[in-house]
Order: sequence, then structure tokens, then C-alpha cells
Amino acid sequence: MNNPEFFDTPGKKQLTIVHLYPDLMNIYGDRGNIIALKQRALWRNIDVKIIPISLGDNLETGIADIYFLGGGQDSSQNVVANDLQRLKKIIKTDVENGTVALTICGGYQLFGHYYKDQKGKKLKGISIFDAHTIAGKKRMIGNIKIKTNIIDPGSIILGFENHSGQTFLGKNEKPFGRVLKGYGNNPRQHQEGIIYKNAIGTYLHGSLLPKNPGLTDWLITKALQRKYSDFELSPLDDKLEEKTFKEATSRF
Ligand code: GLN
Repeated sequence: MNNPEFFDTPGKKQLTIVHLYPDLMNIYGDRGNIIALKQRALWRNIDVKIIPISLGDNLETGIADIYFLGGGQDSSQNVVANDLQRLKKIIKTDVENGTVALTICGGYQLFGHYYKDQKGKKLKGISIFDAHTIAGKKRMIGNIKIKTNIIDPGSIILGFENHSGQTFLGKNEKPFGRVLKGYGNNPRQHQEGIIYKNAIGTYLHGSLLPKNPGLTDWLITKALQRKYSDFELSPLDDKLEEKTFKEATSRF
């Protein structure tokens, strides 16, 4: 696996992102989420460490401030599902302790109990989320717009989805948002994704974070408030991001 990338200066706050299987789970520009997290931290003078973890790589608890796992084809999910089992205990311990996680589509599915593909093959997940996924016949593809209360009440989040998996949440679980346009978890419930403690699963590719700076900042804030009790994220001049978001919303 490639070496970790360090962007650090002694004495400054540091954000450590553990990027899970970047070589296997990275479709529809999901790597853009890492770029958005890194850049919006660096713009605030926060140092960033990005640690890629793939097949056979070692990991310990307490290293990640944020876990990221992108989406992937069924073939990549097959390979990753086996290897991910050996990291289950580490990731579960961290998430239960409030570590932030963002998982997209295939990555989201593998953080649930299982993903049953078109041929009926069940890929075991690591049960971070009380959810399971069953591949349907119809692919759910297109722009998607959801409303979430996770960041500010009623925030609109935009993205792009392309999945056959239909995800069903456990009865006490909270969706990440309500579908205003598109499919989300499945065509019937108008719910999108899941949030459990500070871990989010979502079908929104896009990539998601460059389109939704408020969500990027929410993830960074949650991650660093655990590490630095007095942490406050300074505002950025988001005029360009807001203009882009408005334009993108008008196209839905
Ligand atoms: N293979 C999974 C599905 O089709 C996930 C695809 C993805 O990550 N975009 O549902």
C-alpha cells in the first residue's frame, strides 16, 4: 500500500483520516471526499494525516479521527468484505467511542450486517450499522436530493446515486436524511443512508463533500471536538461553494 501522506507542523491541531481500501473502493469520484476534508482542514491551519489502509495492512484503535470508505463494484466489494472482517473489532471500538466515519454506497453496505448480491451471494459486513442490503433487479441511478437534520435543521444535501442494493435499517436506526428527489436506501421508504453516533452511511456519490461544505465541516468538527475539547471550526469564505450549490440545486 502507498505511504501515509503527512501535512503537519509541530504544535498545530491535527486531523488523521484513515482511508479504507482507496485502491479498491473508489468509484464516482469518491476520492473527492478525502480532498474536501483535507483542504477544508488545511484552510483552517489544521494539519492533516491521511493513512491508506488496504488488503493486509495493519491498523490499531485510536489512530483515526475520521474513517472513510468509498463505493465500489460488486467485484471489489467481494475482495474487501473478506479483509474488512479482520478490522471489524478496531473500527467498531472506535465508532462506539465516537470516532467519525463516512461510508459511501458499497462501503456503507459493508458497514452493515450483509450485502446480498444479484446472484444471492451474501457478503458479510462488519455490523457497525444495524442495516442490511439486498441487490434489487432495478439499478437506482441519478441525481439525489435529501433533507437532513444532522447538520442544521432541514439542511439540503445533494449527490449522485448508482446502486442496485436496497438497504433496510433496523427498527431503532435513524436515517441520514429524507429523500426529496431520487431513491435513497430503497424505492419504497424515502429514507436515505443512516447515522449512528458520528458514523454516516450514505448512497450519495458526487463526490458528496465538495458539493456539501456544511457536511464536510460537520465531520471535521465532530472529529476534532473529541480530540481537543475547546475546538471550534473557524468559518471560511464559502461564497463560491454556495454559488455552486445553488446552481446544482436549481438543476434538480
Ligand atoms: N455494488 C453495490 C450496488 O450496486 C454498490 C455500488 C456502489 O458502490 N456504487 O448496490
